[in-house]
Amino acid sequence: MSYPKKVTGGCLCGGVRFEINFSPDHNWKTGPHTCQCTQCRKNSGSLIYTFHTAHAKELTWLSQSTYQEYNSSPGCYRAFCNNCGSSLGWTDQKKGANTDWELAVGTFDEEFLLGKRDEEGVLRGGYGVALANFGGPHFWVQNEIPGVTGGICKGGTRFWEGSKGPVSGGTE
Ligand SMILES: [Zn+2]
Ligand SMILES: [Zn+2]
Repeated sequence: MSYPKKVTGGCLCGGVRFEINFSPDHNWKTGPHTCQCTQCRKNSGSLIYTFHTAHAKELTWLSQSTYQEYNSSPGCYRAFCNNCGSSLGWTDQKKGANTDWELAVGTFDEEFLLGKRDEEGVLRGGYGVALANFGGPHFWVQNEIPGVTGGICKGGTRFWEGSKGPVSGGTE
């Protein structure tokens, strides 16, 4: 697998932009993860919210002109753009400068998720597998919707709730 040194991303309108400079000790195994809690569903509008964890020191906000946070639970702040409405991820501010950011992988720029197409239309240089594979933790699997999201989040470690677990039934 190839790993990026850096990715950029941002909201739909471009008012919020960021870059992540991955440190040499970045945890690529637990970085990509999913959550199916009701808060993440309401916040993202998606049944499975796909994140990548970056330490605060790896994240630089390049533009925050339309940046806003919503305090969704004690200490937990969900970042969004107050112009276009994109959800950008969340952080636990109780941990201060030592916090991690759980960034919405869908806001990462296409050239890092997919790569770029060459003249033949073949994708080159994407890091989608490193950034968003399903081998990391899966949170709130108790909320899997039978017949819809059930059975999708296999591999990695499955957690019944946010941190309780791991539970069996999905690891391979
Ligand atoms: Zn925006
Ligand atoms: Zn969640």
